[in-house]
Amino acid sequence: MSAGRGVILPGATLGVLGGGQLGRMFVHAAQAMGYSTAVLDDDAASPAGLVSQHHIRAGYEDPQGLAELARLCAAVTTEFENVPAAALDILARSLPVSPAGGAVAIAQDRAAEKAHFVRCGVPVAPHAVIATPAQLAAVDAGLLPGILKTARLGYDGKGQARVNTPQELAAAWDDLGRVPCVLEKMLPLAHECSVIVARGRDGHVVHLPVQRNLHRGGILAVTEVHEGNLPPGQARQALAAAKSVADGLDYVGVLCVEFFVLQDGALVVNEIAPRPHNSGHYSQNACDVSQFELQVRAMAGLPLVQPRLHSPAIMLNLLGDLWFRDGDGPATPPWDEVLALPGCHLHLYGKRDAKRGRKMGHLNVTGATPGAVRATALKAAAILG
Ligand code: ADP
Ligand code: MG
Repeated sequence: MSAGRGVILPGATLGVLGGGQLGRMFVHAAQAMGYSTAVLDDDAASPAGLVSQHHIRAGYEDPQGLAELARLCAAVTTEFENVPAAALDILARSLPVSPAGGAVAIAQDRAAEKAHFVRCGVPVAPHAVIATPAQLAAVDAGLLPGILKTARLGYDGKGQARVNTPQELAAAWDDLGRVPCVLEKMLPLAHECSVIVARGRDGHVVHLPVQRNLHRGGILAVTEVHEGNLPPGQARQALAAAKSVADGLDYVGVLCVEFFVLQDGALVVNEIAPRPHNSGHYSQNACDVSQFELQVRAMAGLPLVQPRLHSPAIMLNLLGDLWFRDGDGPATPPWDEVLALPGCHLHLYGKRDAKRGRKMGHLNVTGATPGAVRATALKAAAILG
């Protein structure tokens, strides 16, 4: 049997823009299926570059680097949302690129992202765009207390300020360099959740189960997934909203949609990431198709089959702080003790230097029941903590 139209079969080379941990796990998934890989990243020690057959050491806007990537690859994806959309557009002239530059450009800009959510009819936090002094002066006092967020380049809670009064808002906008921002009303959160969807070139959408997330200091700390981790109505609503957002972008690839669940049970879309996401890492060990395999399948035009959760799971993020528990020099955490616990799957990203706040890896915990998984995760956290 020959391959269907536009299908890129194993044996071909798949490319990724960005060499971080998400690129590394994409490379692992592609290689496991028999593809070769090419990574574009200027860092000689990038986690993905270290494990890929090809590593093009060039910046995202380097014409020679992009030409080399296009020459080597049958299709290209990205692991990093701040890759210039122009680079994706250049590559798209000669090979399939997913997601497309236009979708990535929207995910890069909170103002454009919010406008897209409104267009799709999904609920968003009350907000205002502040890009000029006139817009600052016109802000509705009903948006305070609120959070001022830079429209571009914010992540892990960076580029944000909590503001209570018009004076604090003006000072915060000054501190952020008067760059375009979005002011969001501070909402009473009960918890946060996210959904990973994968959408094919034919518009077919599959999804991972809804993930319940806990952040610490603006960084994802824990993701918990099991049947019934959210009320069924909420989970259905989150899945439908995620699908609308992906359909509205005519998206191809893996997309993460993050939500706030408010204390009254209402669901609000927060932001999107045009790539696999930290909150989807549990799928490597708890689902029959991981988010990285979905990324490979979507970009290669392979069938997208609905993933199945085969185990309750908890993912613990492993930050560089774990290497500095004794106060003095960095020391490797006692992984052997953690791995003595049943259902613990260690994923480390091959980063040479541990730094506080740096994502070094994650631990996926699986088990027979949500209670058993929670007990194991608590034991692992106690060993590491
Ligand atoms: P980032 O791009 O850094 O992830 P987010 O917009 O997701 O930025 O904000 C980081 C965290 O701050 C969220 O996960 C949430 O805990 C909190 N937060 C953000 N916006 C609001 C809001 N409008 N109301 C209450 N909490 C918020
Ligand atoms: Mg976020």
